[in-house]
Amino acid sequence: MSTEEPMLEVDIAANIADVQSNISQTLKDNNMTENSVRLIAVSKTKPVELLMQAYDAGQRYFGENYAQEIMSKAEEMPDDIKWHFIGPLQSNKAAPLVKSLGLKKLNCVETVSTMKLANKLNNACTAWKESQDPGTIGKNDKLGIYIQVNTSGEESKSGVNNALECAELAKEILESCPNLKIDGLMTIGAPGDYSCFDTLVECRKEVAEAIAVDVDSLVLSMGMSGDYQEAIKRGSTSVRVGSTIFGARDYSNKK
Ligand SMILES: *Cc1c(COP(=O)(O)O)cnc(C)c1O
Repeated sequence: MSTEEPMLEVDIAANIADVQSNISQTLKDNNMTENSVRLIAVSKTKPVELLMQAYDAGQRYFGENYAQEIMSKAEEMPDDIKWHFIGPLQSNKAAPLVKSLGLKKLNCVETVSTMKLANKLNNACTAWKESQDPGTIGKNDKLGIYIQVNTSGEESKSGVNNALECAELAKEILESCPNLKIDGLMTIGAPGDYSCFDTLVECRKEVAEAIAVDVDSLVLSMGMSGDYQEAIKRGSTSVRVGSTIFGARDYSNKK
């Protein structure tokens, strides 16, 4: 990012406070006060200085879409940040991503929808563990993943196509990827079509049954700046909010 570019004034701390208050209000209005919803601050294309403002306001979960970008930001930023990878991940980037962040910083890869990627991530975790001091690695150190579901059926979106495929993939990952733990499901959906959120809720039922876990133990990652309140009403437990916190994105220096 060029330094001559004028930085638009955004009050990131205030924006985060607004989003948190909207989350609480939505839960309250819908008698869902016992639910908890995690806020992932989506910081793709934004400079580290802005992320640090969010960090200083108490934000610890950040979402990034590009392997190179998350690696360099994680290097520069404090170690207690929990990074979520939320973009399409080419399987040849799995190894460098895991190697660079490690299982302590990389909290979740939200966009797993093939065994090819799951296997690459699993192998990358093995290599990472072998590179660590044995005493510092526990049996339960696993990489969290979400299975991405293409709930809108759009050609342009990634993800498994339906609940059956989702459950099949979950079972296969459970069987053959001991370094991964299936923490939840993720979808983007079509803007304005809230039935996509209901579809993800349905998928979660199937997956929970298939891998014999409690439905509520699986995160539902759905809802972005334009629709996070609607997503929460429909059961989201993790919202990915970018432009509402950091301002509009400028892609002009991305390929
Ligand atoms: C960019 C992005 C977001 C954030 O989008 P906003 O509309 O800026 O909140 C959320 N999820 C994914 C997968 C994204 O790529």
